[in-house]
Amino acid sequence: MTVRVGITGAAGRMGRTLIEAINQAPGLVLAAAVEQPGSSLVGADAGELAGLGKIGVAVSGDLAAVVDDIDVLIDFTVPAATLANLALCAAAGKAVVIGTTGFSASEDEDIKRAAGRVPVCKASNFSTGVNLCFKLLDMAARVLGDDVDIEIVEAHHRHKIDAPSGTALSMGGVVANALGRDLAEVAVYGREGQTGARNRDTIGFATVRAGDIVGDHTVIFAADGERVEITHKASSRMSFARGAVRAAGWLNGREPALYDMQDVLGL
Ligand code: NAP
Repeated sequence: MTVRVGITGAAGRMGRTLIEAINQAPGLVLAAAVEQPGSSLVGADAGELAGLGKIGVAVSGDLAAVVDDIDVLIDFTVPAATLANLALCAAAGKAVVIGTTGFSASEDEDIKRAAGRVPVCKASNFSTGVNLCFKLLDMAARVLGDDVDIEIVEAHHRHKIDAPSGTALSMGGVVANALGRDLAEVAVYGREGQTGARNRDTIGFATVRAGDIVGDHTVIFAADGERVEITHKASSRMSFARGAVRAAGWLNGREPALYDMQDVLGL
């Protein structure tokens, strides 16, 4: 059975890459591509947006008008748009893959509620490598325990609008969880001035925004005398897009629940 996929934010950096990834994926077909209502790209051919040539799917400015044509929506946009699209899909009984980052705690609760009605797969990072890193980080934190200082450094392109990255926060969550700490209590976001000596319980975050960096993350476990660093570097958005498309195929026909990429990969 062919899974019919829709993309919101179709003209965005991830949207265009997702169109290409769906085009390469066996068993999935692009059935709808949606942009903001006022976008000058409404009516354009989605394949041409992604540099593939015409594929016969016109960009729509209204998800409601095309939601019946899809089985699964993949949404990489902004939190407000994602929540509106999710509500529409929940009412229409359609599964949703969420790649957008930067949700507030209350918005995350809204997503959980919607996942009671339709299957939802949300991940701050859909690449296989990063999801493997989550496992490695859990192991490192458990072995190194409270004897190390933990710092997370992330770098992204100049257009990214949220910080630290959703992936960096997920990495902090994995490490905090392994050590029995509450990330909300121990996270330190950047430092300046007379900071005093470092408290070992804290987990520090540092953010770089520059040029066209696709996404670099390093978690440092530093003790006296040695340190372990776990690093992931994305060199192409295709790693995220392939993962999200794989999640869409996996999600189709599942029971309503909130899943993540670890579930998709069976980790
Ligand atoms: P982008 O290039 O800015 O694309 C965002 C898209 O969303 C654009 O097409 C934009 O349309 C559309 N959009 C913005 N506001 C909207 C609204 N109010 N209603 C409907 N559509 C709206 O950004 P990107 O680099 O593709 O990233 C998108 C999101 O994915 C970010 O949150 C990013 O952090 C996340 N991301 C996640 C992963 C992952 O693996 N989970 C990987 C990469 C990126 P306009 O251009 O018309 O504004």
